[in-house]
Formats: sequence, C-alpha cells, structure tokens
Amino acid sequence: MIGMLRQMITCRWTARRIQRYLDADPAAPLTPGEITRLEEHVAGCARCREAVRQHRSMHRALSLWQGRRPVDPDVVDRLGAVLTDLSEGRRP
Ligand SMILES: [Zn+2]
Repeated sequence: MIGMLRQMITCRWTARRIQRYLDADPAAPLTPGEITRLEEHVAGCARCREAVRQHRSMHRALSLWQGRRPVDPDVVDRLGAVLTDLSEGRRP
C-alpha cells in the first residue's frame, strides 16, 4: 500500500518534469539529482515510459514541422498579385 502510494506520487512528480527533461530547457533546468530520479523511475515504470515515448514523438513531429522551409516571399507576392487581379476582374 505504501509502495503503491509512493509509486503514484513519483509518477506525478515525474509527469510534471518530463517536458523539461526532454526539452533540456536552459531557463528551467532539472538538477542532476532530479534527472537521476526521473530516469530511475521511468526505467521501472511502464506508465511513465509510455508518457516519455509520447512526448518524444510529439517533439519529433514539432521539430519537423518547425524545420520546414519557410515560404518564398516572391511566391507570396505573386500569389497576392494574382488574387488582387482576380478580385478586381482584371483576369478572365
Ligand atoms: Zn511512473
């Protein structure tokens, strides 16, 4: 019973830090002790391992999305000109 309670508390403690752990955010770093505690808990807890896995795949998706080439401003200008022409009836 005590063990289960401790496990639940550690899961909540871990869940609140997973994001910072994966981000390695310099503005809100985890202490080496926190990192060790988190990694030890995740290694032995299937639920938190799954949470880390989900966070990781979300991170990957986000970084792929952010890494996409920016839109060429010339293309935007040309498209804008075409739309203006169309809206003002200059194109058939
Ligand atoms: Zn856990």
